[in-house]
Amino acid sequence: MRKRRNISAGHRIDGSRRIVAVAAVLVLFAAVMTITLSLKSVGEQSVRTERDLQAISAELHSQDALEWRAISGRVTPYDVAEELTRSRTRARVLTTRAESSSSSEKLASAQDRYDSAVDDELRLLSVGRTQEAEEVDEAEVDPAFDAVMDLLQEHSGAASSAAARAQWLSNAGIVITVALGLGLTAFVENRRRRAQLRRDAERRSEARYRALIDRSSDLVLVSDREGVLSYLSPSAQRVLAVTGAGAGTVVGAGAGAGAGAGAGAVLNVLALVHESDRDALRVALQQVHPQRGVTVDVRLRTDSSMRTLAISVQDLTSDPAVGGLVLTCHDLTERHELQQQLEHRALHDTLTGLPNRALLAERFAQVLGASADGGAGTGSATALLLIDLDRFKEINDTLGHHYGDELLIQIDPRLRQVLRAGDTIARLGGDEFAVLLAGVGDLETAVAIAYELQEVLTLPFEVEGVTLDVEASIGIALSGMHGDDPAALMQRADVAMYAAKQHGVGVAVYDSSIDGHSPERLALLGDLRRALSNDELILHYQPKIAVDTGEVCGVEALVRWQHPQRGMIAPDDFIPLAENTGLIGPLTTRVLELALGQARRWVDAGEALQVAVNLSARNLLDERLDRHVAELLTRYGVAPALLKLEVTESAVMVDPVRARAVLQRLHALGVQLSIDDFGAGYTSLAHLKNLPVSELKVDRSFVATMQTDSSNAMIVRSVIELGHNLGLSAVAEGVEDAAVLKALAGYSCDVAQGYHVSRPLPADAFERWRAAWPGIAEHQAIAG
Ligand code: C2E
Ligand code: CA
Ligand code: CA
Repeated sequence: MRKRRNISAGHRIDGSRRIVAVAAVLVLFAAVMTITLSLKSVGEQSVRTERDLQAISAELHSQDALEWRAISGRVTPYDVAEELTRSRTRARVLTTRAESSSSSEKLASAQDRYDSAVDDELRLLSVGRTQEAEEVDEAEVDPAFDAVMDLLQEHSGAASSAAARAQWLSNAGIVITVALGLGLTAFVENRRRRAQLRRDAERRSEARYRALIDRSSDLVLVSDREGVLSYLSPSAQRVLAVTGAGAGTVVGAGAGAGAGAGAGAVLNVLALVHESDRDALRVALQQVHPQRGVTVDVRLRTDSSMRTLAISVQDLTSDPAVGGLVLTCHDLTERHELQQQLEHRALHDTLTGLPNRALLAERFAQVLGASADGGAGTGSATALLLIDLDRFKEINDTLGHHYGDELLIQIDPRLRQVLRAGDTIARLGGDEFAVLLAGVGDLETAVAIAYELQEVLTLPFEVEGVTLDVEASIGIALSGMHGDDPAALMQRADVAMYAAKQHGVGVAVYDSSIDGHSPERLALLGDLRRALSNDELILHYQPKIAVDTGEVCGVEALVRWQHPQRGMIAPDDFIPLAENTGLIGPLTTRVLELALGQARRWVDAGEALQVAVNLSARNLLDERLDRHVAELLTRYGVAPALLKLEVTESAVMVDPVRARAVLQRLHALGVQLSIDDFGAGYTSLAHLKNLPVSELKVDRSFVATMQTDSSNAMIVRSVIELGHNLGLSAVAEGVEDAAVLKALAGYSCDVAQGYHVSRPLPADAFERWRAAWPGIAEHQAIAG
């Protein structure tokens, strides 16, 4: 592969440089060696010359002695002739050698002059001319001898200093050579070791780099500006399945390119990219330059699927180790999928996969915004239908959640039979669904569709061989007619749905009269929100007494609104408003807080009293009510048995199954339950039997008139008997006089409550009343 070749080329360049360096050092080494050796021989030559000169001097001294012996007359010139000739020959040989090295001819000629002077003297002696010989000796021989000796002296000094210099230089040369040798060895060894280390490091880093590329989930590609690939990392080969690539991924038919591809064909990355992303990648490849990388998100076709990749393109064309554009592709597919899942989950119901409340609100706002932009009239009105299944809870409870879930899953396809493709179906939670009819046109169409939906929902469902029947209550609100913003329309569709359920009519259109949203009521509504946070709600307490003993056995807490401008407002004037606007939840919470706070004070004062709190029908549909009550009991430290919750018959009948479940959980907490206003609504004794209640309150409309209306008296009596038969304690409310109380005692009524005993009173007034309350006997005496 190209990269590898380039790495080894780099090695070659390094190696030849090293060879040149080593050769240079070797040449230097050789030169120093040669100089040293020649200096050494020069030195040796000089020493030899010096020695020759000394020998010449010795020969001349012996010649001088011979000459002196002759001139002193001890021997004849003939006696010394032979010896003299031999000495002269030796001297001449030595002189020739010494002069050839010192390149001087003066010595030989000086010797010649001395020799001829001695010869002259000896010739005169041999003929007896002693006097003249002595004169020659003095005038010629002696000076010639001295001259030779001076020359010898001079030559010898020069030779000895040359020898010393040569010796010194040659010694220095040896030192330098040795130093150079050592240096060279160290240098070569050092280079060798460093090269080894570098090779090791390169091997390691290449292995690491390779492992990184091999194991990385990122795909690494090298391409040219046209997208032609010259390298694919193993992961890229794997993911792109290049070896087995289909014809579609291979463009052109060149050979040998893409060494890493192993496909033997020219691969172009652009051919692998989804066609709608191709231009973006092409632009990135063209525009990238060494100073600035480019990142582009593309979808890439792999062997099995389409993957989303973030490709970061780096221009490494000028890097000889790469020589191309490096494409690092980070696979975003899983992250994308996760993100989509999270987004989907945030906006969809997990069970049915339908849009949830948030998505419905979003679509609703879109649809309303679009029709507002279009300036359309009623023709583009949008209807919101809220659907609540009537018998769903029963199925869940009797057959189990699995059946309930399966049924909920079948709701969407069932509704789709009636709806157009563009209509939105959402699940708001539990068994509550919503349908958004965009551009439905008019109310009549919306109502017609609602009836069709209701009808398909009444057709039996089948879950695992079991046939299930449900019914639905549908509330309708229409944009333009009932409001302009999603929140208001949602709330009004909810009011309508609740009305449909309450009246058992199946489909109901929002009607301001059921809602009571007159401007005055709307102002009151705003005030009520404020009242909840401003402590404007207070409780009055009305005692319940045991009919036989007169003992105070509890109180009923009744809410009042102390309006800053309007004064005291009775509950009948704001409870329905709260019920229809979703404020009943917070209102009930506030009442429970006040009632439990008071209960706690009575406990602390050593005169514990059971406090009854009224619940609305809407509270009974709140699945979290029991948890909420438990939390409040804990917070105020009040025993559950000191709390009684009063619910009306009709509230239970709105959704009997759900209400029963909520009541059962409250009962399990240890809270007492009471059926309020019994007899006023439609009576379902069957349900009463199944409810975990302990008390039955006869509606005050019968009690108050029982003295004048005998049929009402009969009802009161029957209800008390019924209660007793069911094991419930019977309470008569609306006891306005002693006669009624007396009659109730005759019916064996357990508890009485009414203006005759006491009006509802603020806590402090109630305490004063209680302190003064003498008990039934005296009370009857007083009344009597
Ligand atoms: P209720 O639960 O039937 O409460 C009894 C109502 O009868 C009270 O009216 C009480 O003042 C009144 N009353 C008591 N004794 C007599 C009597 O001898 N003769 C007559 N004619 N009336 C008598 P109030 O306080 O105006 O409450 C009206 C209704 O408002 C209550 O009827 C109850 O349904 C509702 N309510 C009161 N407080 C609350 C509350 O905190 N939450 C809820 N959800 N509803 C409440
Ligand atoms: Ca009540
Ligand atoms: Ca009542």
